Amino acid sequence: DLVLENVQKAFGDNPVIRGIDLNVARGEMICLIGASGSGKSTLLRCMNLLEPIDDGRILLDGEDISEPGRDPQPVRQRIGMVFQSYNLFPHMTALENAMLAPRRNLGKSKTELREPLAQMFERFGLGDRMNHYPDQLSGGQQQRVAIIRALAMQPEIMLFDEITSALDPELVGEVLDVLRDLRAQGMTMVLATHEMGFARELADKVCFLDQGRILEEGPPEQIFDTPKEERTRAFLSRVL
Ligand code: ATP
Ligand code: MG
Repeated sequence: DLVLENVQKAFGDNPVIRGIDLNVARGEMICLIGASGSGKSTLLRCMNLLEPIDDGRILLDGEDISEPGRDPQPVRQRIGMVFQSYNLFPHMTALENAMLAPRRNLGKSKTELREPLAQMFERFGLGDRMNHYPDQLSGGQQQRVAIIRALAMQPEIMLFDEITSALDPELVGEVLDVLRDLRAQGMTMVLATHEMGFARELADKVCFLDQGRILEEGPPEQIFDTPKEERTRAFLSRVL
């Protein structure tokens, strides 16, 4: 499990995360929703140790991973992250992109990686695209490669930051299908998303972030159908 206790983070004198408590249980899918600037991306980046926190603790299976000075690399192997901009290396094929991190960080060979990765490309509808370069792939295909690249490290938890936001509408569905598949496989996931329909369909828990706090959280039906807080209602009326 991943447990956040009173996590706080400021940029200069701008407090961005202002005391967040969150439990991510194994196999759970949690969606973070909230207005632009509410702190969704920053919170995900803190979970992955891309940003040091100022106060509070982050525990992974009971172990404090947020102590300053700690090597973030082993944690990032256990907690994978995918961003809105897929940032594939343009001079490498899709398969080479996916092989890079496990070769470098897990010491695996191309030979032992090829078969399991080929299966994953197949599973996500990219069986015939493995040897293409990023500029030969659509945005939706590139984003699926970016997900495979993160999964290649065999993480226990996956963080997704608005991974469909930059895609043409007709390409969003194929990326959400990948998340559905991962969900069905029992992957533990935290998503910042604007896809409210998707959050309603699949999330165990939806957290509404407002000015760096979780103002309201609960099962999707509760948050979407009977929100308690006026600010949640106002946000939902703008986006639904
Ligand atoms: P969006 O929906 O637009 O992606 P968000 O909820 O992900 O928004 P964050 O990106 O976490 O919001 O930003 C929260 C606040 O932190 C914003 O006010 C932003 O300007 C600020 N911020 C984020 N990253 C940095 C940084 N590296 N340096 C300074 N300020 C930052
Ligand atoms: Mg963001």
